[in-house]
Amino acid sequence: MADVPKDLMDQITRLEELFVVPTEKLKEITDHFVNELTKGLSVEGGSIPMNPTWCMAFPDGYETGTYLALDMGGTNLRVCEITLPEEKGEFDIIQSKYRMPEELKTGTAEELWGYIADCLQQFIEYHHEDEDLQALPLGFTFSYPATQEFIDHGVLQRWTKGFDIEGVEGHDVVPPFEAALAERGVPIKLTALVNDTTGTMIASAYTDPEMKIGCIFGTGCNAAYMEECGSIPKLAHMNLDPSLPMAINCEWGAFDNEHKVLPRTPYDIIIDKESPRPGQQAFEKMIAGLYLGEIFRLVLVDLHGNPDCKIFDGQEIPKLKKAYSLDAGFLSAIEEDPFENLQETADLLQNKLSLVATKPELELIRRLAELIGTRAARLSACGVAAICKKKGWSSCHVGADGSVFNKYPHFKVRGAQALKEILDWPAGKGKGRNDPIEVLPAEDGSGVGAALIAALTLKRVAKGQN
Ligand code: BGC
Ligand code: MG
Repeated sequence: MADVPKDLMDQITRLEELFVVPTEKLKEITDHFVNELTKGLSVEGGSIPMNPTWCMAFPDGYETGTYLALDMGGTNLRVCEITLPEEKGEFDIIQSKYRMPEELKTGTAEELWGYIADCLQQFIEYHHEDEDLQALPLGFTFSYPATQEFIDHGVLQRWTKGFDIEGVEGHDVVPPFEAALAERGVPIKLTALVNDTTGTMIASAYTDPEMKIGCIFGTGCNAAYMEECGSIPKLAHMNLDPSLPMAINCEWGAFDNEHKVLPRTPYDIIIDKESPRPGQQAFEKMIAGLYLGEIFRLVLVDLHGNPDCKIFDGQEIPKLKKAYSLDAGFLSAIEEDPFENLQETADLLQNKLSLVATKPELELIRRLAELIGTRAARLSACGVAAICKKKGWSSCHVGADGSVFNKYPHFKVRGAQALKEILDWPAGKGKGRNDPIEVLPAEDGSGVGAALIAALTLKRVAKGQN
């Protein structure tokens, strides 16, 4: 960076101070995280929900049958029909995607369940026209925190990821969903309500027995792992066999809601205040795809209004002022731009925001994207490290999915480097490949994973363990 004027250089330095998370801080966060995981399993509870999911086994490869899987994501609704083979191998899968209309996220509960039931009905009518169908078992991937006393029920604790539909929080989501299906005469039986992280863990373990954790780094951010019932004091009253496994959906997005350890910037505070659920998902709001572009936008708006710094000097910024107008894909594109001339970045600013940027401004913008993307990757490594530390796992595989993990440039390498720093791996490690703890692309959790969990549930019921 040759000729960056002093005012911009000062701002870059200030942003680095705000967004860089040094090794010592990562370690401090991880240690606090380990305690919070344990607290979440206690009777008193903590800020991380640590929800027992009643998924109580890894697949052994002999799961069979035909299942439906429904994934209610933020942008799409996906319906799959999966036939698990007699012996571990290629499963058959047919699937359809439906758009999840933006209005639905803030509409009414009736609209939501009605829309989902309509999609399922369409799917069944299309693929099973004129068949006299027995009710198909469904694994429903519902990627929000839910309290479950049984695997085929779940009380929504709170909406996350910008959803805000009245009358659902605090209620069991299954009865209204089933009522909408019954109203339409759709032959489906909900067998398991599944979190996307649990589905990811199970699907990944189906093909790789070293997989111990499932993570999502996407619109939201979270992880699941397998705990022993004997280590879950809040389930002690149920007298479960202490050696039985229980998948725990951590809901780690809620980590540090009480603001004890995360290095929050003034921008993180604004994100939280302006969100539909202030005070919730503190960790998620610094990491997840839904928020990365918004953090970036808030910094630029702030710099433009700062009299000590001349950025987009003399230009109006109406487009930049629009909340949530930039997504993580925007940051990805900036980080992918070859550094030499940052032409791609200049074009993006021009086309998307009608802004003209000087070369030093482009360099600041690039650095800002790097800082935000790197912070997200490094903070998420604290969660992975914390689960491994809690469980005493010095080596394992972690299955990860989500748009940020799959598409955001350097996310994987930055995460691996942070794991190395936190866990003091020797030189040569921390590159992601052949590391003691390897975070790998997961199998399809909300499709195959949900189907496998439905199959495991029916197996458990058949054995009378439910
Ligand atoms: C939800 C989790 C989910 C994660 C990733 C979070 O906002 O609370 O249930 O696993 O997003 O989709
Ligand atoms: Mg998803």
